[in-house]
Amino acid sequence: MIKHDVVIVGSGLAGMRAALEVCEGLDVAILSKVYPSRSHSGAAQGGIAASLGNSEPDSWEEHLYDTVKGGDFLNDQDAAEEYVKAAPRVIYELEHFGCVFSRTPDGKIAQRSFGGHSKPRACFSADRTGHAILHALHEQLLKRSKSIKIYSEWYMHSLVLDGDRCNGIVVSDIRTGAVEVMQARAVIFATGGYGRVFNITSNAFASTADGVMAAYRAGIPIEDAEFVQYHPSGLYRQGILFSEAARGEGGYLLNGEGERFMEKYAPSRMELAPRDIVARAEQSEMDAGRGVDEKDIIHLDLRHLGEARIMERLPQIRQLGIDFIGVDCVKDPLPIQPTAHYSMGGIPTDKFGQVIFDAEGTHVRGFFAAGECSCVSVHGANRLGTNSLLEAVVFGERAGRGALEYVKTVGHAPVNESHEKTKVLEQFEGIFQRDGKESYNDIRKEMKTIMTEKCSVFRDEEQLKVCIDTIKKLQERYKNGKITDKGKLFNTEIYEILELGNMLGMAEIIANGALNRKESRGGHYRTDYPKRDDENFLKHSLTYKTDKGMEIKYKPVVITKHQPAERTY
Ligand SMILES: Cc1cc2nc3c(=O)[nH]c(=O)nc-3n(C[C@H](O)[C@H](O)[C@H](O)COP(=O)(O)OP(=O)(O)OC[C@H]3O[C@@H](n4cnc5c(N)ncnc54)[C@H](O)[C@@H]3O)c2cc1C
Repeated sequence: MIKHDVVIVGSGLAGMRAALEVCEGLDVAILSKVYPSRSHSGAAQGGIAASLGNSEPDSWEEHLYDTVKGGDFLNDQDAAEEYVKAAPRVIYELEHFGCVFSRTPDGKIAQRSFGGHSKPRACFSADRTGHAILHALHEQLLKRSKSIKIYSEWYMHSLVLDGDRCNGIVVSDIRTGAVEVMQARAVIFATGGYGRVFNITSNAFASTADGVMAAYRAGIPIEDAEFVQYHPSGLYRQGILFSEAARGEGGYLLNGEGERFMEKYAPSRMELAPRDIVARAEQSEMDAGRGVDEKDIIHLDLRHLGEARIMERLPQIRQLGIDFIGVDCVKDPLPIQPTAHYSMGGIPTDKFGQVIFDAEGTHVRGFFAAGECSCVSVHGANRLGTNSLLEAVVFGERAGRGALEYVKTVGHAPVNESHEKTKVLEQFEGIFQRDGKESYNDIRKEMKTIMTEKCSVFRDEEQLKVCIDTIKKLQERYKNGKITDKGKLFNTEIYEILELGNMLGMAEIIANGALNRKESRGGHYRTDYPKRDDENFLKHSLTYKTDKGMEIKYKPVVITKHQPAERTY
């Protein structure tokens, strides 16, 4: 059995920041199924929010209001307040860690506009912000290699829970397929989002809900799973992201008639309204037959910015267009459509990153979560751009500190190694031995397609029922799948099958949550219930696994400074 004081699963911004916080004087491990700096955080382009006020006067109070209004008042405002207050300190800390931010002519950290933010608040490194921060943190991690052991390309299968206490995880080495139990006094999950459940998505291949589903299987509920963010500017058909920074720098959105249609939907904010509103506006234009070439295409037009500005501020976006579709945005508009991008929901935690079981805030002792896999909830029903990198860093730090304090009070608890290991070995053997007729690839494709078609920007009861029914059938077919690679060494196929199992579970939780929430709020829009319904639905949903299937319970929203108001832009 492998033994550490604290084990962190996930090496994106949240996991790395947590590791740096918790490592002093402890034996810490960080585990990632991809090489640490390949985590999806590294793909973040546009920026990280903080009310530094370097371009225009700004304050945490304004940042808080924008965040709560952007989240359609479902945010827990006590957590959101502490988070926006922490932002300026966090930016300077990242800078001191070695992160190179773009500058104003007088040498301050430059800040640009982003959707739903009333002030230019996004600190950025051209359009490679996640890359710059992730590498700065990775270097800090390597500097502490005596106290932090990195398990690169190791896969976490399950949590070891004993009642309300977490005592470790079960893992395997992707290289050899060897299964091990990792005993720990505290575990931190920083496993990221689950956009791969959808066909059109901006997310990396690793964003497959493993952490969230491991928690769910262990009896921990999933909070607000129905809230998925569709980003307005994914590359047509492929979903690859063109950052909102393109609009922050002044890019236009045009329909097939060459109109800047946002005038009709958000006249004061135009292209820089929050993402849920822009994505719905695009979809409405396309549904009305006003897509470019009568297809599901909207144009992102950057030509008026000029080559010099594009090369200074948006070089990666230009290159993505050239590499993937041969379109140079200096000369031509980019074809885009909404793409599944971010999961507002996740493993419920308190504002210190500690995982909670229920509406009363009962703790799971020794279990923490941070970043996109968690739901604090600072974003409510819709996250504003650049608020997620901030969340990962702020709550990564908090979860690390929480774990540090916690392990001062407890030793290692006994773990039944063979019992925990056997469960995973049986799952492996089950897949190897099963000589079913179904193709896992077909099942994956059908799941993604149905989620993008029936559980997307616009939803209704009929479509969601079809979606859930299809997912359930796919879950049955999954039990009759056929693996082709039966070897142990670097068997990536079996890991993809395990990820598919997690995604099929997650897809059902998302669609079921969407069916249950009979209102429209933030990223969740029901055409059959187009209004927000504060009387019945100003509450967080908690989906539990029970013997009879899923059960949804609720948790009140923490409202401090801002009472729910109509959301107009
Ligand atoms: C293309 C793109 C651009 C974005 N741009 C921005 C932006 O400009 N600003 C902003 O604020 N937000 C942005 N976001 C959102 C933001 O990047 C993410 O929400 C954030 O980086 C998530 O960080 P994380 O640490 O929670 O998870 P991730 O960075 O996703 O890391 C997850 C980690 O978990 C590990 N993991 C998962 N499952 C397992 C398992 N079973 N076993 C072992 N390891 C596992 C992975 O290997 C990985 O290391 C963007 C997102 C995308 C997709």
